[in-house]
Amino acid sequence: MNFLEERILKDGVVKPGNVLKVDSFLNHKMDVYLLDEIGREFKRRFAGEKITKVLTIESSGIAIALPVAREFGVPLVFAKKAKSINIDGEMYVAEVESFTHKKTNQVIVAKRFLTPEDRVLIIDDFLANGCALQGLISIVDAAEAEVVGCGIAIEKGFQDGGERIRNLGYHLESLAIVESMDAQTGHITFRSQN
Ligand code: 5GP
Repeated sequence: MNFLEERILKDGVVKPGNVLKVDSFLNHKMDVYLLDEIGREFKRRFAGEKITKVLTIESSGIAIALPVAREFGVPLVFAKKAKSINIDGEMYVAEVESFTHKKTNQVIVAKRFLTPEDRVLIIDDFLANGCALQGLISIVDAAEAEVVGCGIAIEKGFQDGGERIRNLGYHLESLAIVESMDAQTGHITFRSQN
């Protein structure tokens, strides 16, 4: 079991509706040393790749992506949730349905922050149905930049986002893949990874 899986078992809380709460260490109160370790682990998993930018989505992706960007020595860009009134021709736009809030957001990245020369590592905290990742991938595609890979802290392997992204041929690395979780008992199992 790796450091993140251990921490999920210790402090994660399974909620009804297939939601894993990790707000005591990852996305509300944050363990900054755990985040640093996550940064180092993604650096190890994408070692040898030429990466020029890390891309994530606000808000909970930012804390995960920041130590990754620092490890690679590149800028971090995050997609912002936009009010349509703010959108002009200077922005790449994607529609992203929020898994936790069940509503669709338009997310935007300023065109000047992603260029065709960029080799992008996409990072997010969770992967469920894959809407957030697919939105970010579509933004990189619109910029004619390259997706080098996708790094996820916690993939819920019983939802189909991971399979969909892997089937599209992307290099997807998830530090913890939850195979099953039970809101009644709180029991969590992980997919074994080597
Ligand atoms: P997807 O777009 O893959 O369906 O969902 C990914 C997004 O939804 C992530 O950006 C994350 O913020 C949120 N999310 C999905 N599942 C969970 C979960 O079980 N717990 C928490 N805290 N966030 C989740």
